[in-house]
Amino acid sequence: MAAPKVAVVGAGVIGLSTALCIAETCPSCSVTVLSDQFSPNTTSDVAAGMLIPHTYPGTPIHMQKQWFKETFNYLFAISNSTEASEAGIHLVSGWQVFKNTPKEELPFWSDVVLGFRSMSEAELQKFPQHQFGQAFTTLKCDCPPYLLWLEKRLKATGIQICTRKVADLWELHSEYNVVVNCAGIGAQQLVGDEKLFPVRGQVLKVHAPWVKNFIRDGDGLTYIYPGIHRVTLGGTREKENWSLSPDPGTTKDIFHRCCSLEPSLWGAQDIEVKVGLRPSRQSVRLEREVLSQGGVKLPVVHNYGHGAGGFSVHRGTAKEAARLVGECIAALQGSSLRPRL
Ligand code: FAD
Repeated sequence: MAAPKVAVVGAGVIGLSTALCIAETCPSCSVTVLSDQFSPNTTSDVAAGMLIPHTYPGTPIHMQKQWFKETFNYLFAISNSTEASEAGIHLVSGWQVFKNTPKEELPFWSDVVLGFRSMSEAELQKFPQHQFGQAFTTLKCDCPPYLLWLEKRLKATGIQICTRKVADLWELHSEYNVVVNCAGIGAQQLVGDEKLFPVRGQVLKVHAPWVKNFIRDGDGLTYIYPGIHRVTLGGTREKENWSLSPDPGTTKDIFHRCCSLEPSLWGAQDIEVKVGLRPSRQSVRLEREVLSQGGVKLPVVHNYGHGAGGFSVHRGTAKEAARLVGECIAALQGSSLRPRL
């Protein structure tokens, strides 16, 4: 029987990691990544890449925790390997601070990150406007290097990577046995998902090598995330705003907010402004669907809608998508694989 042909649409962190998981779990598959944009031109390139989960209200917490844990463990192993610097993965310690004590003092992910604890009074003196805080160590991806590292792994595994805009998933039915939709915000147009909406985020990437600890305001709006070479300062969350142009007023506002948390940032240099559209939904769409026209069927696996937390859960959702692809292939083999061009 010929090798099953799988197309993965999208080359952000979700598409690349899903393609890799499919190749790992189904070595007999022939996997191709099709995308109109690649790093450095995806939303994933703009992200800060911090492993602090965003909560999806429509997804059961135990599932979100499993996705986060699998992602954390995967990246922790990379951070402990010789690949760490090329992959852009590193541990980072710091504080999440709150102006008022949150209802949930222990978030669901508190036993996945390392050394989670409440901040001491002495630590809180650094943040005179805040009255409660949590200290922990987590992981951070420097996003463009991590995406390039994933692409390199894909090529080494024999996966093909092609530049192509897909107008309709059905157009792939004569070339592939299974299609995986990892189009991020592009899925709104590609599959007409009206539950998917953009949440615009603007961030600054600055040179401030003395900043070693992360600081995140518990409201999720203001954050300082040190990476290997640059520090990411954020941010904004603007629902249904499709603009990719940086807004100078927002840049000033972000900078002032971050300087009030960490005054040494007034000395930051070489400010670069980036904008991305978070592919947001009440829940990640991670499911099988069978498209059908005139008696011909095309199994599809959707894996999109990761909103503000795609890096935090990417490996977990990629593993689940690969499992669903395995189910599609088993079903096709049961009904004898249809020949493809
Ligand atoms: P994308 O990166 O947008 O990739 C989608 C891919 O699909 C692209 O390659 C695109 O070209 C392709 N595509 C789309 N439509 C088509 C089509 N029709 N045909 C062919 N190809 C198509 N998450 C965290 O976990 N931690 C963070 O610290 C964090 N910080 C963030 C900060 C900002 C400012 C922003 C904007 C986001 C942040 N995120 C963070 C969220 C994270 O960036 C996203 O959840 C993640 O990047 C989504 O990845 P994706 O692969 O689904 O989408």
